[in-house]
Amino acid sequence: MAQEKHLVPTLAALPSVDKLLQQEWMRARIEEFGQTLVTRAIRQALDELRARFMRQALKQLDLQPQQLRSLIDEKLGELTASRIQKVINLTGTVLHTNLGRALLPESAIQAVTQAMRNPVNLEYDLSTGRRGDRDDLIVEKICALTGAEDATVVNNNAAAVFLLLNTLAQDREVVVSRGELVEIGGSFRIPDIMARAGVRLHEVGTTNRTHLYDYEQAINESTAMLMKVHCSNYEVQGFSKEVDIAQLAALGARHDIPATVDLGSGTLIDMQSYGLPDEPTVQQNLAKGAQVVTFSGDKLLGGPQAGLIVGDKSFIQRIKSNPLKRMLRVGKMTLAALEAVLDLYQQPEHLVQRLTTLRYLTRSDHEIKAQAERLQPLFQQWAGAQFELLSQPMHSQIGSGALPVESLPSYGLCFRYRGAGRANQAAIALAERLRNLSTPVIGRLQQQSVFLDMRCLTPEQEADLVRILQHSQ
Ligand SMILES: *Cc1c(COP(=O)(O)O)cnc(C)c1O
Repeated sequence: MAQEKHLVPTLAALPSVDKLLQQEWMRARIEEFGQTLVTRAIRQALDELRARFMRQALKQLDLQPQQLRSLIDEKLGELTASRIQKVINLTGTVLHTNLGRALLPESAIQAVTQAMRNPVNLEYDLSTGRRGDRDDLIVEKICALTGAEDATVVNNNAAAVFLLLNTLAQDREVVVSRGELVEIGGSFRIPDIMARAGVRLHEVGTTNRTHLYDYEQAINESTAMLMKVHCSNYEVQGFSKEVDIAQLAALGARHDIPATVDLGSGTLIDMQSYGLPDEPTVQQNLAKGAQVVTFSGDKLLGGPQAGLIVGDKSFIQRIKSNPLKRMLRVGKMTLAALEAVLDLYQQPEHLVQRLTTLRYLTRSDHEIKAQAERLQPLFQQWAGAQFELLSQPMHSQIGSGALPVESLPSYGLCFRYRGAGRANQAAIALAERLRNLSTPVIGRLQQQSVFLDMRCLTPEQEADLVRILQHSQ
C-alpha cells in the first residue's frame, strides 16, 4: 500500500536524546527552560514517537527536523503551562466554590504580596522581641467587629467546626436538631464530621420541627454541647420550627453546657441595608448568647479561605491549645489577606466600593444590562447563526450556601439553539466552546440553553473578552 512506504521500519531510526540536545535550535530552548526540562520534553516526544511506532503509525515524515522540533516544542508548552488558570465566571453565582469563591479586594492582594516578598512578624512579638502568637495579629480586629471576647483562625470553616467539636466534646455528646444535619457539599456532612471528631451525635426533633423541649430532654451527664448549624444550601419551608439560639443558649446556661453555632457564611453586616436578603450576623448570634460561632473567611466575608472561630475566651483558649490546631493553622498569606479585609469592615462607608464580593453582590441591574448589551453583537457573531442570542433579565445567586432560595435580579445573555431538535447537545457543545476560549468562560446550562450572567464580569475581563471574541472570528 502507498502509505506503508512511508512507515519507519525500525525504532533505530529514532534520534537519541543526546543527539537532539546537540541540535543548533536547542540552544535557545536550553537557555530559556534549562537542560532538565528540555530533556524531559525530548523524552516525552520520543515516547510518543515510540508509541506511534507500536501502532504502526510512525512515518518517515515524523522524523524530519521540523516535525521533531514542533513536537518537542509542544511538549515543552504542555510541561510549562499553568494548570491553575484564570477563568471568567458568568455562572451568575458570585461565591462559586468550584471557581475559588471570594475575589479579594485590592488591599488584600497588596498585603499578600508584601507578606510573600518579605519576612513578617508572623509569630514574633515586635515589642518584646520574643516569640508571638500568629492569631494575636488579628484577634483584636475580629473581636472589635464581632463583639467576641476572643478568636482564632484555621484553614477553613470545616476545620473550625471539627476543631470546635474535638476540643469541647470528644467522647461526649453533642445535641443537634434533625433539621440541621446538613451536607454542605463535597464531603462535609455534619454527622460524618462529628464521628471523625470523636463526638457522639445526639439527634433531636424532626426534619421540619424541633422544639426547645427536644433539646432539654436530650441533655444528660454526657452532653458536652448544644449546637446549631446554619442550613446553608437548603431551606425548610412551610410547617417548620427551629429553636432560636437565644433560647438554646439560655437552656445551655441552666445546665452549664455551651451553645454553639456553625454559621457557614457568617456575615458581619446587615445584608438588608445593602438591599440583599437577610442573613443572621456573627454579632447577633454572639449577642444572643452563643458561646462559640464558626464561619468561613471566603464566603460572605469576602476574604481568603479560612475558618474563624469566635466566642468566649475560655473556650477559644482551649481550642487553641488542642494539638490539632497546629495542623489546621493558617499561613502568613491568609492572615495578611484576612487582616486587610477586616480593615475594610472598620470603614463601613467604603465597604460596598472596596470589598469586591459586596460590590458584585450589589451591582445595579442597569449596569449589568449595559455590559450584556455591549457584548451581545460580539457573542452573536462568535456563536454563529445557529444560535439566537437574547439579552435578557436573569437571576444571580450569592452562592456558597448563603440564602439558597432568594436570588438577585441580574442581566445577561441567553444562547438558544435555532436548529431542529438536539438543542441540549448544541448547548453542551457551545458551553464547551466557551470553556475552550483562551480565557475560559464559564456559563450555566439551563432549559437547553446557555446562560451567561454578566454580574461578575469585571471591567478588565470585559476588555479581555472583547479582544478574545474579535480574534476568534
Ligand atoms: C460552607 C459551610 C461549611 C464549610 O466551610 P468551608 O469554609 O467551606 O470549609 C460548614 N458549615 C456550614 C454551615 C457552611 O455553610
